[in-house]
Amino acid sequence: MTRIALIAHDEEKPSMIEFASNHEETLAQFDLTATGTTGKRLMEETDLEVERKESGPLGGDMMIGAEVADGSMDGIIFLRDPLTAQPHEPDISALLRICDVKDTALATNRASAEFLIEGLADQ
Ligand code: PGA
Repeated sequence: MTRIALIAHDEEKPSMIEFASNHEETLAQFDLTATGTTGKRLMEETDLEVERKESGPLGGDMMIGAEVADGSMDGIIFLRDPLTAQPHEPDISALLRICDVKDTALATNRASAEFLIEGLADQ
């Protein structure tokens, strides 16, 4: 099953919930994982089943990065907050880097996230 990770920084969480609600039928076809708080909100506010990792600042980004590294992740939607510094910036950079190393699909805004789920849904 195609596996996708969902991550949203705090300022972007409402946008992630809206995105997931708008695309619930498509997202339901995927094996979904998410960082802790993003996953909790997705489970509470949509009908999607989501496996939860640790919260991003507590290692969740790295846990998702590890799955990219071992080849078990097909795509990542990472709604980063472009306007607020994050204390776990090194983890964020590492996740982006490993996606490039492994040529794993990565969307960091909603417009590209639409293409990502449509592309992976067709596989
Ligand atoms: P969270 O992590 O879903 O646990 O908030 C995301 C992040 O801030 O990196």
